[in-house]
Amino acid sequence: MFAITGLIGSGKSLVSSFIREAGFEVLDADALAHTLYSENAELRKKITEAFGTEALTESGINRPYISQIVFSDPQKLQLLESLVYPILQNEIEKIKPPFIEAAVLHKIPELAKKMEEIWVIEANETARRERISQRGLSTIEINNIMRTQTYCSGKPLRETTIQNNETPNDLKIKITQLLKKHIPKVIEKNISLKKHCSFKIGGNANFFAEPKNEEELCSLLAWRKKFKIPYFVLGHGSNVLFSDEGYGGLVIKLGKWGAGKSLHSLIQEAANQGLGGIEKLQGIPGTIGGAIYMNAGAHKQEISDCIKTVSSITPNGEIITRTKEQCEFSYRSSIFKGMGEIIVSAEFDFVPMQKESIDKNRKEVLTWRKEKQPLQYPNAGSVFKNPISQSAGALIEACGLKGHRIGDAELSELHANFIVNKGNATAKDVKTLMEKIVMEVEKKHGVVLEPEIMVF
Ligand SMILES: Cc1cc2nc3c(=O)[nH]c(=O)nc-3n(C[C@H](O)[C@H](O)[C@H](O)COP(=O)(O)OP(=O)(O)OC[C@H]3O[C@@H](n4cnc5c(N)ncnc54)[C@H](O)[C@@H]3O)c2cc1C
Repeated sequence: MFAITGLIGSGKSLVSSFIREAGFEVLDADALAHTLYSENAELRKKITEAFGTEALTESGINRPYISQIVFSDPQKLQLLESLVYPILQNEIEKIKPPFIEAAVLHKIPELAKKMEEIWVIEANETARRERISQRGLSTIEINNIMRTQTYCSGKPLRETTIQNNETPNDLKIKITQLLKKHIPKVIEKNISLKKHCSFKIGGNANFFAEPKNEEELCSLLAWRKKFKIPYFVLGHGSNVLFSDEGYGGLVIKLGKWGAGKSLHSLIQEAANQGLGGIEKLQGIPGTIGGAIYMNAGAHKQEISDCIKTVSSITPNGEIITRTKEQCEFSYRSSIFKGMGEIIVSAEFDFVPMQKESIDKNRKEVLTWRKEKQPLQYPNAGSVFKNPISQSAGALIEACGLKGHRIGDAELSELHANFIVNKGNATAKDVKTLMEKIVMEVEKKHGVVLEPEIMVF
C-alpha cells in the first residue's frame, strides 16, 4: 500500500485525482470513515455514548456538530480519534487498496508501518489557508483547522515529501514522475486499441504491454496484482469489440512467442511436416492462444480436435497444464472463458496426411472465405454464434437486414453474420446494430442470438 497524506489544504485530494487519472485506484480514508459512521453499529454505539445522540445522523456523522466540539477541544478530538481509528485501520487492512489518501495516517502508526511508501504533501501556510478558505468555512473554523492540524507527532518512515505551493500542473508533473518509477518499462500508456483489433474500433488502453517472454509476462501479472489493475489478454484482436471509452486497465498482448504466434504459422508448420487435422481453419485470423480460448473452428474442424495439452498462467503467476478433456472445449468456448488465465503454450496431436491433400484443403477454404466474407472491410468475423442446428446468418438474412447501417457500422451485403466498419464506425454504432439484429431475429424466429465476439 502507498499512502498520500498531509495537512488540510495541502492538496491531497488533488494528488489522489492525478493518481486516479493515471489509472490507479485510491481509497479515500475520509470517505471510508463516513461510511463507517453510518454503517458500523459498534462505532455508532461508541460515538453516541461519548458525544450524545446528536453526534450522529442516519447517514453518518453530524459534521457541523462534531467539528464544533473537536476543533475547539483537543481532548475531544483525541477521544473521537481513539474510537474511529482502530475500526478504520481494520477496514483498510481488509481492503488493502494500492493507494490510500489518509490525512490522519501519522495518527495510526501501526497502519503507517504497513505502507510501502508515504507521500507527504506539504504546502506553506498561506497556500493552505487560501485553499481552506475556498471551502466556504467561517474564519473561526479556518483558524481552528489551522491551529489543530499539526502534522508529525511521530513522523512515519519511508516518506517522500512533495511540495505543493505552485500550480496544479506543477503538482501533476511531480506525481506523474513519482508514479513512473512504479510502472514497469515494458508498459506503454494510452495506446489506441483501434490499431490492435481487426474492427479498427475502440478508445485507448490505459496501460498496454507486449511481454517478450514468460518471465516478463509473470512480472507484469505481479505488478498488476500489487496495484489491483484489471487486465485483459489480447491476441490479434480479431474477435473483439472494444468500447469507444477504451479500457481502464492493462491490455497484455503476447508477442510472437508461444501461444502468441499466429494460427496461420501453426497450420503452415504442421503442413510442412505432413500433419493436418486443423488445416481447414486456414484463413481464421488470430493467435494460437485466441483460437484455443475461443475454440475456433470452421468447415467441421475445431482447434480442439488436435489439442493434447494447454498450458496457461494464472493471475497469480502459476503455470497450469490441462489435458484436452480438462479444457472443456465446446462450440466457440473453453474453460478459459472469463477465467483470467493466459494461455502460453499448447501441445498438439496432429493427423499425418499427404502434404498435397492438406494444401488442397487449405486452398479450398481460402477461396471459400474470399467469396463469402467481406474481407475488404474491417470486421471481427461472425458477430453471433449459430444457435443449435441453425445458421445465425440465415436467420438474420431472413429478417431482411443485410445492408442495414447505423453510423459507419453496416451489416454486410455479402454475409449476414458480419458487421463491417465502413469508415469510422464506433463501438456504439456496432452495439446498436447488434441490438437491432437480436430484436428482429427474436421477433421473427423466436430465437435469441448470442454474441460470438467479445464485447466490451
Ligand atoms: C475475417 C474473420 C474471419 C473469422 N472467421 C472465423 C471462423 O471461421 N471461425 C472462428 O472460430 N472464428 C473466426 N473469426 C474470429 C477470430 O478470428 C477467432 O476467434 C480467433 O481465434 C481469435 O484469435 P485472436 O488471437 O485474434 O483473439 P482476440 O480477438 O485477440 O481475443 C479473443 C478472446 O480470446 C482471449 N485470448 C486471446 N489470446 C489469449 C491467450 N493467449 N490466453 C487467454 N486468452 C486469450 C481474449 O482475451 C479474448 O477474450 C474470424 C474473424 C475474422 C476477422
